[in-house]
Amino acid sequence: MENHKEKIYLSPPHMSGEEQVYIDSAFDSNWIAPLGPNVDAFEREISSYLGVNAAAAVSSGTAAIHLALQLLEVGPGDRVFCSTFTFVASANPILYQGAEPVFIDSEPETWNMSPQALERALKEAEQEGNFPKAVIVVHLYGQNAKMDEILRLCSEYDVQVIEDAAESLGSTYQGKASGTLGAFGIYSFNGNKIITTSGGGMLVSNDEGAMNKARFLATQAKDAAPYYQHSAIGYNYRMSNILAGVGRAQLQVLEDRVGARRSIFNEYVMHLSGLPGITFMNELENSRSNRWLTTLLIDEKTAGISNKALLEVLNEENIEARYLWKPLHLQPLFKDTSYYPHSECHHVAEELFQKGICLPSGSSMAKEQQMRVINCISHSIKVNSLRLSG
Ligand SMILES: *Cc1c(COP(=O)(O)O)cnc(C)c1O
Repeated sequence: MENHKEKIYLSPPHMSGEEQVYIDSAFDSNWIAPLGPNVDAFEREISSYLGVNAAAAVSSGTAAIHLALQLLEVGPGDRVFCSTFTFVASANPILYQGAEPVFIDSEPETWNMSPQALERALKEAEQEGNFPKAVIVVHLYGQNAKMDEILRLCSEYDVQVIEDAAESLGSTYQGKASGTLGAFGIYSFNGNKIITTSGGGMLVSNDEGAMNKARFLATQAKDAAPYYQHSAIGYNYRMSNILAGVGRAQLQVLEDRVGARRSIFNEYVMHLSGLPGITFMNELENSRSNRWLTTLLIDEKTAGISNKALLEVLNEENIEARYLWKPLHLQPLFKDTSYYPHSECHHVAEELFQKGICLPSGSSMAKEQQMRVINCISHSIKVNSLRLSG
């Protein structure tokens, strides 16, 4: 049957209208290049927003993670600990470097890296004399991981931290910008993120020397010689001056976008949290989530419907909702990779994947659209939970 209902997307781009001004300035000055005044300005503006010393605009969040691993000299034979509950882009750069990922489970409060699993992994690494070169901590759906605990452990064992803040731009942790607490932080401006350049990323750090090196590696590692001379492997990872213009305009409305996504989250909670078997992702104390995507867990035993069945119902209504990230230790790509669960009998990320869904959360979503999503979910849970009790 053909579906005539207007499609509601998970997280579509939301332009401010000012982007064209910056694009025009790139065209007017003929800076149609991977570098230029918009790139420099975007780096300055985002550094000042985040409160970091330096930022390097690159072609994707994945490229930014790859550069961070390069800067920490991760290479063949090295191990890198990484959150298991994340998008594959968090871990692919570990493979680019010929290094070995080790996956760390989530904990139930933030759904992000479990400090208790990390501690076990570090203790074992100490016993084996095989410390990781780096830990990649992911802040999923805008929620901050428990950075105090994670940073304390990593400094105790002298391991560097890379924050994958691709989904948490605009979130704060104890008053500091998410992604600015580790040695390096990365952000993504992919089309579905809270602000977008259509595609792009940012690497940030307080270590200006390292960031100069990042820019060098990202422009083919060209030596300071009068001709083309190269002594290291380089990459073509810089951001285009046109796209940086889009980013500058988007950054100006970031706070509005966070506000809009948080309101959308509150609206879902108001209408759905009373339903049987539904729980929402909490917000860690002393932190602000940008609520990039509203996520919830469905307990089939009380809701009377599984996450899979609910996703099918939503899909039939032309509503784009999705599973949560499938843990990386369950991916065929990583089938022989080691993994540390939260505890022996509590595999948190697996449980989240089995129960969770994410809902349309775009900052441009209209109230009527959100009510369509809410009515669809509440109807379907009411019918199914009644069937259970009846
Ligand atoms: C989007 C995303 C990335 C990758 O960013 P790209 O810009 O698409 O390369 C990395 N990690 C997480 C958690 C993401 O959501």
